[in-house]
Amino acid sequence: MRVWAIANQKGGVGKTTSTLALGRGLAQRGQRVLLVDLDPHASLTRAFGVATEPAPEGVLELFATPPQPLAALARDSAVEHLAYVCAQTALATLERRSANQPGLGLALSQALARHSGQHDYVLLDCPPTLGLLMINALAAADRVIIPTQAEPLALHGLAGMRRTAEMVERSRRRPLPVSVLPTLYDRRTRAGQEALRKMQEDHGGRVWEDAIPVDTRLCNAELLVQPAGEDGSYPGRALSSYRRALDWILAEDAEPLERAA
Ligand code: ADP
Ligand code: MG
Repeated sequence: MRVWAIANQKGGVGKTTSTLALGRGLAQRGQRVLLVDLDPHASLTRAFGVATEPAPEGVLELFATPPQPLAALARDSAVEHLAYVCAQTALATLERRSANQPGLGLALSQALARHSGQHDYVLLDCPPTLGLLMINALAAADRVIIPTQAEPLALHGLAGMRRTAEMVERSRRRPLPVSVLPTLYDRRTRAGQEALRKMQEDHGGRVWEDAIPVDTRLCNAELLVQPAGEDGSYPGRALSSYRRALDWILAEDAEPLERAA
C-alpha cells in the first residue's frame, strides 16, 4: 500500500481537485484507492455528495479512544475501486481539544498500519494549515505531492511546504520524497509562464515538467467522481492532464530514493 499526502499550506491551489483526479486515475487503472479528507472545510467529502450537517462518521473517529478502524469509516463511491473517508467540520477544533494528548501525531500512521492489504493507494487531502492533521498526514506518507498554483505569490507557499516536509523527514528518520505539481496554469499570461520557470529553477528535479492548465471542466468536483458517460467522454477529457501527471508521479515512485534519511 502506498500513501500519498496532497499538501500545501496555501488554500485554493488545487489540493482537493488533484486528490480527486489522481485518485480517479489510479482507480481507472484498476488500483484500489482510498481518499481521506483531512480538511475541516470538507470539500472532498461534499464532492461525493455527503452533507456535513449532521456530521458524517469520518476522520474524527480515528482520533477517538479507542479509535475506529479505517475500514469501518471507508465508503464506496460511484466510481469502481474508489472509496473515501469523510471529514467533519469539527476537525477544526481537534487540535485545541487534544493539545495535551501526546502521540496524536501518529494516529493516522497507526490506523494505516492496521489497514494494509485493503487498498493499493491511500491519498490524503490535507488542510491548508500546518497543524495536527497535516503532521499526521506527513508522518504517514510515503510521498508528498505539493500542488502549486503557477502564479508568482504561490512560490512562497511552496518553499514553506518544502521546509515542513524536510522537518518531518528529519524527525521520522524515513525519506519523504516530494513531487511538485504545477496547477492552474494559464499559459497565455506572462505571470504564469514566469512562475512556472521559477518553480523549475528553484526546485529542480522535484517539479513536473508540464502543468495542469486552468480548465473550467475541472471546476466541478462532483463531476470528477461521477462514473464515465457511455461515450466515455466525461470526465475523461478533462482529466487528461492529470493522467499525464499521474504517469510522472508513478515513475517517480518507481525510482530508487536518491538519499537516505
Ligand atoms: P484546495 O483544495 O487547494 O483549496 P481546490 O482543489 O479546492 O483547492 O481548488 C480551488 C478552486 O479552484 C476550486 O473551485 C476548484 O474547482 C478550482 N480549480 C482547481 N483546479 C482547477 C483547474 N485546473 N482549472 C480550473 N479550476 C480549478
Ligand atoms: Mg481542499
